[in-house]
Amino acid sequence: MQLTNFVARKIYNSRKEATIEVIAESHDKKVMASAPSGKSKGKYEVQDFSVRGIDFSISFLNVFGKRLINEKISFETFADLEKIEAIARKYDQTKNWAFIGGNALYVIETAVLKLIAMSHEQELWQFLLEGKHPLMPVPIGNVMGGGAHVSASKKVDWQEFLFIPRTTNFFEAKFVNEVAYKEAKKVLEDKDLEWNGKLSDENALAPTLDCETTLALADSIRNTIQDKLGISIGLGIDCAATTFWTGVKYRYHNFSSTIKQKDLLPEQNSAFIVDMARKYNLSYVEDPMHCEDFSGYANILRRLKNCFVVGDDLICTRQERLEKAIREKAINAIIIKPNQVASLLETKKTIDFAKKHEIVTILSHRSGETLDNVLAHFAVGWRIPFIKCGIVGSERLAKLNELLRIERQIKE
Ligand code: PEP
Ligand code: MG
Repeated sequence: MQLTNFVARKIYNSRKEATIEVIAESHDKKVMASAPSGKSKGKYEVQDFSVRGIDFSISFLNVFGKRLINEKISFETFADLEKIEAIARKYDQTKNWAFIGGNALYVIETAVLKLIAMSHEQELWQFLLEGKHPLMPVPIGNVMGGGAHVSASKKVDWQEFLFIPRTTNFFEAKFVNEVAYKEAKKVLEDKDLEWNGKLSDENALAPTLDCETTLALADSIRNTIQDKLGISIGLGIDCAATTFWTGVKYRYHNFSSTIKQKDLLPEQNSAFIVDMARKYNLSYVEDPMHCEDFSGYANILRRLKNCFVVGDDLICTRQERLEKAIREKAINAIIIKPNQVASLLETKKTIDFAKKHEIVTILSHRSGETLDNVLAHFAVGWRIPFIKCGIVGSERLAKLNELLRIERQIKE
């Protein structure tokens, strides 16, 4: 496959921030790809757009695309993305793609990969499977949220309250999350008198309550839905703890119904998380401590049985950080966000390394998303057992609907 046309341009993500969309063609085949952006970004992520600004990343991509066309570079396999990275490295030798912007690399690799799959007359998920059996991911649903994803001054400090339907039927699991969302809306209207319908950036419901009260509501919603649908549901949280770490303490702005602001020392924060996880029977705890505290994660993992202790900002999809986390027994599950490292080759390496060491992989959207549905293809094609891509809103539904379609196709 050779590129015959390539255009990069500016579009806007779900948070109305500027991002990049590309259109790539190879003769009669045409694809689009676009890049998401995070808000609670990890310190070890690549630079999303060039330090010179997004316009520089877009101009760079247009020049880069022409070069790939003029030099008639041919792409046949996933490993051929290396050809893009080798040329990109001639322009940008920084570790974090600060000069061209990581999203520029992510978006061109994604577009070229889509064309490679097409040139083999396969869908991307089929191409990535390389003959292996497909695996549908379980959708982890973000029902309520707060932290950096909510702009209101009164909000819950933890970023996400997550539902994990225990069914391997994707259609059923997606339905469970929708029912949970509707039930949570009713409960908040009744119990959170200051709520006012506010949503997070991922369209989760944004209570004005403290962490424990929100968790207790989530737990009772879980029980209601389990009884109603007869499907077991796991409960989880993404604390995104780096976002309220001061460098010395964890500063909760909404700690309990009686105590407002409260600072917790690291040992107190881990004790609080373990206490909450036991009391509400959590099966998933993401970023409970700040992104440098490997031993804090290890302390929590040691004390929680049957619970995923998940590294997102801790790892930033980087293999070398995952190696350290494994050495220190800090986590048993990892968030994979391809644009945290920009390179799809590196993303895949981290996934393979995680699987080899029995670390559970969870593919994730970003809080600022586009309509690109490629995550659905990565999830099935790379056999990732869980996907976190929201419940409500067209950018989230783009991925969920694509997964519904793929599931139907697999079953046919
Ligand atoms: C997350 O922390 O899991 C997340 C999706 O946040 P963001 O995209 O804002 O980094
Ligand atoms: Mg996270």
